[in-house]
Amino acid sequence: MGGRRRALEPGILDLADPAGPRLVGARCRVCGERYFPRRHRCAKGTCLGPCEEVRLATTGTLYTWTYVPTPKYGRLAVGDEPFLVGQVDLDDGPRVQGILVGPPEGMAIGMRMRLDLDVVREDEKGAVVTYCFVPLA
Ligand SMILES: [Zn+2]
Repeated sequence: MGGRRRALEPGILDLADPAGPRLVGARCRVCGERYFPRRHRCAKGTCLGPCEEVRLATTGTLYTWTYVPTPKYGRLAVGDEPFLVGQVDLDDGPRVQGILVGPPEGMAIGMRMRLDLDVVREDEKGAVVTYCFVPLA
């Protein structure tokens, strides 16, 4: 993906890591529970510990998925193809919902997935991106 990239929604994606995009989440300083999106206080039981910002794992396991017959979130034009959405249990804990990229016949609950970027649109300033998950090759 050439040119400048910026996230569709601020604060959820780190695009500066040379190793690749990372989701920005939170980790409880008391019990270690991880969250996406970020939280200020832990929601596990009665913990309520303060949370700090962390970069989350880029791989996980597909918990569930479905087919959505409408244009993707953030698209400006109708006419985009239907898409897939799913929930991925990241290797470091949080269950994250996002767009899945790949053919429906290639998706299966329990398969390994990795984080990637989906271009929502391009303009004079570059590409506007959001996160997605693709099957881990
Ligand atoms: Zn906690």
